[in-house]
Amino acid sequence: MNKKNDIAGDLLIGAHMSVAGGLYTAFQRADRVGCTALQIFTKNSNQWNDPALTAEDIAKYRDAENKSKVRLVVSHDSYLINLCGATQELLLRSRKAFINEIERCRLLGIRYVIFHPGAHTTQDRKSALKLVSKSLNYAHDATAGAAVVTLIETTAGQGTNVGSSFGEVAEIISGVKSQKRVGVCIDTCHIFAAGYDIRNRAGYDKTMEEFEQTLGFPLLRAIHFNDAKKTLNSHVDRHEHIGRGEIGKQAFGFFINDERLVDIPKILETPKGDDGFSMDVENLKVLRSLAKKS
Ligand SMILES: [Zn+2]
Ligand SMILES: [Zn+2]
Repeated sequence: MNKKNDIAGDLLIGAHMSVAGGLYTAFQRADRVGCTALQIFTKNSNQWNDPALTAEDIAKYRDAENKSKVRLVVSHDSYLINLCGATQELLLRSRKAFINEIERCRLLGIRYVIFHPGAHTTQDRKSALKLVSKSLNYAHDATAGAAVVTLIETTAGQGTNVGSSFGEVAEIISGVKSQKRVGVCIDTCHIFAAGYDIRNRAGYDKTMEEFEQTLGFPLLRAIHFNDAKKTLNSHVDRHEHIGRGEIGKQAFGFFINDERLVDIPKILETPKGDDGFSMDVENLKVLRSLAKKS
């Protein structure tokens, strides 16, 4: 993980990539489009089953990582996991799956697991936020010694999803015992859908100021770069290509050129195009064009 200083200065940007054919294949997809950062699912994200990684899976992954231009890998947990699950069955199942995810990341040498805090469904928001903190404490205790940091992703606030304001994310973090095991991932589409207007300079500065006041930049470890299909405050989570949605290109330039965010991986979760990669090439080209030359 301490290699590749030769490309320091290049942007830390990339995309979520499929692992179809083996975890290691994600690096081939990432290199093909010129990623320096990469996000993967370490298992099928729509299923509960967690097949154990074999020694061969891990060796192939580590070998591919060493040969790749990717400098930082993050994992995204399964969409089924709800760390504030309203039933005991869902909660226990979610905690177990989350612990397994952290364990897989430890074995693969992945430093960050990004997760959506969950849906409160029948509970009130306050108790749900407390339950997320409790689940994190439980998972951190069960994986004590692992260097894996769990990153709360800001949500669009669709349905009963919690974590759509920096304040709610801060509330979860305030209940976490091991502060070094927790951080935040901002998703540009989600914060915009949740009401943070980042389209112009004043709005961007105000949003980042609020982030600094409620959470603080040391907690920010990853950013999902998605334009939004729906309008400000829509609470609808629909990703669009960079510059083709309601947010617009300019906002991504603010993030790219923000000196506080230079070391933060910025990762696309946008559609790939029919051939499976050309839209990543296009979106990454747009992002690179926004970087100010010094
Ligand atoms: Zn995201
Ligand atoms: Zn999303």
